[in-house]
Amino acid sequence: MAFKYVILGGGVAAGYAAREFANQGVKPGELAIISKEAVAPYERPALSKAYLFPEGTARLPGFHVCVGSGGERLLPEWYTEKGISLILSTEIVKADLASKTLISAAGETYKYQTLVIATGSTVIRLTDFGVHGADAKNIFYLREIDEADELVEAIKAKKNGKAVVVGGGYIGLELSAALRINNFDVTDVKLKDGRVLEADIVVVGVGGKPLTTLFKGQIEEEKGGIKTDSFFKTSVPDVYAVGDVATFPMKLYDEIRRVEHVDHARKSAEQAVKVWDDILRLNNNFYVPNSQTNISNSQVRIVLDQRRKVVGAFLESGTPDENKAIAKVARVQPPVESLDQLATEAEMKVIAAYLLAVLGGNASPSADDVKDILCSGKKYFYDC
Ligand SMILES: Cc1cc2nc3c(=O)[nH]c(=O)nc-3n(C[C@H](O)[C@H](O)[C@H](O)COP(=O)(O)OP(=O)(O)OC[C@H]3O[C@@H](n4cnc5c(N)ncnc54)[C@H](O)[C@@H]3O)c2cc1C
Repeated sequence: MAFKYVILGGGVAAGYAAREFANQGVKPGELAIISKEAVAPYERPALSKAYLFPEGTARLPGFHVCVGSGGERLLPEWYTEKGISLILSTEIVKADLASKTLISAAGETYKYQTLVIATGSTVIRLTDFGVHGADAKNIFYLREIDEADELVEAIKAKKNGKAVVVGGGYIGLELSAALRINNFDVTDVKLKDGRVLEADIVVVGVGGKPLTTLFKGQIEEEKGGIKTDSFFKTSVPDVYAVGDVATFPMKLYDEIRRVEHVDHARKSAEQAVKVWDDILRLNNNFYVPNSQTNISNSQVRIVLDQRRKVVGAFLESGTPDENKAIAKVARVQPPVESLDQLATEAEMKVIAAYLLAVLGGNASPSADDVKDILCSGKKYFYDC
């Protein structure tokens, strides 16, 4: 099977990326999501919270993305309506980035033009540390919905029993709380604790590691994740990485980081699809008046959409007043139809004069030009 766009992974980032693709007008048949899980993308944090509660229990379809951020709930029918192929219960076991091919455990081949890697993390297991008895029965982990179902079954089967929770991070603490609500006698332990504890069930929450193994040796990695630029573009052409797997430049801290948080998964997915699509659309439809010109020895560029609304503004070597003006134009994104109105605002006069001078020209910007334009003058990457 061949698709224009493939999102590998069917978690939080995949769901938010799919919504953004739909917003940008992806055509039926162009996009596929390939996921190991059997269900459409959902808000993973629910698994360690209401999913385990005895009352007020959360179950799908209640927490499909994008309800976690107050958005529309994307049910499986939504993907069908949009012509997005949801290829579920399908684990990709081989990725060949050079030939743009993915191969599933069942031997199916999927070709793509552009790939979004959204494989998230996997849990660290006691077997990873060579802990004695790590493969015993009734040891549970929690990452995916089938593991949550197994845990729910065990909670029911061992009613009012004893539980040991290994790991005191936020997932460990949430699991302890959920087990207490279920009337379990819970002990929290850390890995190096030498005591012997009896338990009906053991739940391990000792952290995760990003799922990058499919791409080892084919893509640049850093800090355990797949290295991207601030547009979540990796070192391989036409390959993006979002969510837990991405190590990206976080301008707020001026360093490259990986973030395992749901909000980052949502925003990075949206950002990757949005900017990339802007670039495609800009190359196809957008209008950049004469691309460059000089105002008082500064270089300025303004990007307009088809309705001649300003969607981006770039200024190099501007005076403080010009910098102020360009920042305001980028923020306000005025329609150029109202240039007169623009010119009445002292701050924007210079830009209005520029636009008046160059309107009528036409130029096709390169992807790098567009990057510059879209991100100039903005402080943090999420805003740009
Ligand atoms: C129990 C739990 C509770 C959490 N609670 C919070 C919270 O309260 N707040 C917070 O900020 N964050 C929380 N997180 C973290 C948050 O859920 C993650 O940061 C977020 O889900 C990352 O999104 P993602 O899309 O990158 O990865 P995921 O949501 O993990 O999605 C990855 C997807 O890729 C699929 N996949 C992986 N490899 C393959 C393959 N080879 N083939 C096919 N499919 C594949 C997986 O099956 C999965 O569907 C929690 C995580 C867990 C596990």
